[in-house]
Amino acid sequence: MTEATCSHIDAIETVKHPKRHECDECVKINARWVHLRVCQECGTTRCCDDSPNKHASKHARASKHPVIASGEPGERWLYCYPDDAFAEH
Ligand SMILES: [Zn+2]
Ligand SMILES: [Zn+2]
Ligand SMILES: [Zn+2]
Repeated sequence: MTEATCSHIDAIETVKHPKRHECDECVKINARWVHLRVCQECGTTRCCDDSPNKHASKHARASKHPVIASGEPGERWLYCYPDDAFAEH
């Protein structure tokens, strides 16, 4: 697989992992999530687009933090929202 990365993903040297295995925003509102994503800019953990509240992509849009990593055990990838780019790590 050729890695179609972007400057945002290229700039990441250390991948941030979830501090706790829960969506920071869902916990506040007592909601459920499906998968977890970790913002690589500020290190917060939020839920994926399969989750009802889609906190990770809302956060990316609101804060302009481009890159997330999967927060799921065994998954090792990064995703950049503005460039729609995936990379394994
Ligand atoms: Zn990018
Ligand atoms: Zn959430
Ligand atoms: Zn962030």
